Amino acid sequence: MVASIVIVGGGIAGVSTAAALRSGGYDGDLTLVDAGEFPYDRPPLSKDYLAGKQELAALALQPAEWYDDQEIRLANRTTVAALRPAEAGVELSDGTVLPADRVVLATGAHAARPPIPGATSDRVHVLRTAEDADGLRKALLPGARLLVVGGGLIGAEAASTALGLGCEVTLVDPLTPPLAAAVGEETATWLHDLHAERGISVLTAGVDAFEETAGGIAARLNSEHAPRDFDAVLLGVGMRAETTLAEAAGLEVTGGIVVDAGQTTSNPAVLAVGDPTRRRVDGVLQRPAEHWEAAQHDGTRAAATILGTPQPEPTAAWFWTDRHGLHVEGVGRMADAGHTVVRGTPGDGPFSVFAIDDGRVVGAVAVDDTKAVRASRRMIDGRLAVDLDDLADSGTDLRKLLRAAKG
Ligand SMILES: Cc1cc2nc3c(=O)[nH]c(=O)nc-3n(C[C@H](O)[C@H](O)[C@H](O)COP(=O)(O)OP(=O)(O)OC[C@H]3O[C@@H](n4cnc5c(N)ncnc54)[C@H](O)[C@@H]3O)c2cc1C
Repeated sequence: MVASIVIVGGGIAGVSTAAALRSGGYDGDLTLVDAGEFPYDRPPLSKDYLAGKQELAALALQPAEWYDDQEIRLANRTTVAALRPAEAGVELSDGTVLPADRVVLATGAHAARPPIPGATSDRVHVLRTAEDADGLRKALLPGARLLVVGGGLIGAEAASTALGLGCEVTLVDPLTPPLAAAVGEETATWLHDLHAERGISVLTAGVDAFEETAGGIAARLNSEHAPRDFDAVLLGVGMRAETTLAEAAGLEVTGGIVVDAGQTTSNPAVLAVGDPTRRRVDGVLQRPAEHWEAAQHDGTRAAATILGTPQPEPTAAWFWTDRHGLHVEGVGRMADAGHTVVRGTPGDGPFSVFAIDDGRVVGAVAVDDTKAVRASRRMIDGRLAVDLDDLADSGTDLRKLLRAAKG
């Protein structure tokens, strides 16, 4: 019988594990350890929080009283220093050992800092934590020259926020367009072109080096001879899974903590959820999800494994991102599709692009069209075949289309 559980990490994955354990009927000892002030949400860090429109308190994943109501011991500002699977527990950085029949690692990730010469300068920022956002925010004064390295989700969001704050923004990425794997080539191109239309200077380049100058920072791009001067730089070049505890405890780690379909690691007493994990399906390691909802679903799966209850039905992966006042959502797989179907006109109100394989929708990406993504998810999950001409017609009611769909 499982009588005590320690969750290490209070991001969305850790908090959703705790919530799913309690809602699933677990009434044993439950501790959530988190290094931060309190468990908070990350997506606003590149959006409204960075823009100064939200306070940190508004980002709390749960109100403070929720932990008491749910009888969850929240050990905030506390770091787990080691796993002690053999003695069934975890060791905190002050040496205290918390006993645990099961440990759930929800340790998240760090923003990647590639070894570019000069990248350790205080003027070179990353964006993963509220402290990171606070530091970057101070640099985003009207007229400040910001270089954003990386045009993926976080780089593009932060570039758009900085533009809104009156900064002079330059965005560099060696790929044109970035994000094609996530949203498909045509939408990626449209989204990337939007930066220049809105006033961001966009360059196809990588960065060879940074060098501090009197009052600024120079960036040497691999496409140009002369360095360019900026006031601040943001590196938005991906994340690095936080696997220190897992590695020290001898768990299998391959670019992330390896878990099975129920989130169990190579040690049956230790589960892992969210950004630090990589799932192995039929012997094949999957790409890390790195999205909010995937981390939340991991928590539900881990709780089901611990409680021995049925796993939730799998559903197509979903994410959202916001830039230049547009809300973008993606579901399923956009890469390597047979062909695409477009509903609406890019640049003229809401539009969606559906990826089609064998006559069925396998992925969709939509701009300002949540309903299209929701309908697509039902098509993908249910393997429903819909009339593709009707799908492309923005006058067609998607609910009717779903009712007429064949499974
Ligand atoms: C700026 C930003 C914007 C984003 N925007 C979007 C978006 O628009 N849409 C989307 O789908 N996704 C978005 N994401 C991704 C999404 O937020 C992440 O996938 C999600 O936060 C992952 O949650 P997590 O719980 O796995 O990790 P985290 O949120 O990183 O939480 C891990 C926690 O573990 C704690 N921890 C680590 N080690 C220890 C230890 N040893 N002891 C105690 N505590 C420890 C950390 O302090 C941290 O609080 C964004 C991410 C960022 C950074």
